[in-house]
Amino acid sequence: MDNVLEQLLVTNSEHGYGAYFGVATRRVGLSRWQRGGVSEVVNLPALFVDIDREPREALADLKRFPVLPSVVVFSGFGIHAYWLLKEPLKENVGRTNQLLSALARRLHGDSLTVAQCMRLPSSYNTKPQRHHTLCQVNVWRPDVTYEVAEFAQLLPVPTPSPRKQTPTQFSVASAPTVNSALIAAVADSFRERGYRRRESWLNGPCPFSHRHKRGDVHRSFGFNTATGYGYCFVCGTILLRDLCGALGFQPAYYGGLLAASTA
Ligand SMILES: [Zn+2]
Repeated sequence: MDNVLEQLLVTNSEHGYGAYFGVATRRVGLSRWQRGGVSEVVNLPALFVDIDREPREALADLKRFPVLPSVVVFSGFGIHAYWLLKEPLKENVGRTNQLLSALARRLHGDSLTVAQCMRLPSSYNTKPQRHHTLCQVNVWRPDVTYEVAEFAQLLPVPTPSPRKQTPTQFSVASAPTVNSALIAAVADSFRERGYRRRESWLNGPCPFSHRHKRGDVHRSFGFNTATGYGYCFVCGTILLRDLCGALGFQPAYYGGLLAASTA
């Protein structure tokens, strides 16, 4: 396989062609000239980003991002970064695209979909003004893998709106109207169940795993300890009220869902 790849790279380069690979696996039966679009994708084993900027700036952004990539590639111009997942994502292509877009926005990268093809390391960047630069692996940590819930922090957290002031507004600000004693009790319960903290999120399996096709093998849920909202990769936003129901909490016992001053 290595020899075949090497030969292909030499031939491609001699003819001035670049070489690319699909990060997502594709269904079988595609013809020679089909890359495979979003509808042909079978699963996605890694989240990825293409940062088409000066590598030093791109690396500085990556270092500030709390989830360090498993693989970093110098593309011959900018940076490609890959976060290998413990379980490939199979469900919900729309939300996977949303996650890739959020990752791109956070790291000032290009907007990509699951079907994107990336430049193959060890090939040459044949675009004009790229001076035939070699695309090469800079960081290689294939043993560093992540659960998708660890990226929940990227997604927007809705602001609770008990008074119907801003029902569609999204914000990462804390939610003063939700009863903080209840949030703390729910957070304690998740911690006791082994959910792991990353910034203001506790990540672990979804409490509504029956809504998932195969239970929640991806561990795709995050609880935001600042706002009291949950976010599941498959279920979407989950209200504190519904989390209380799933965990067997009685909000009234903690003083209700809302803080006393606004209730
Ligand atoms: Zn879920």
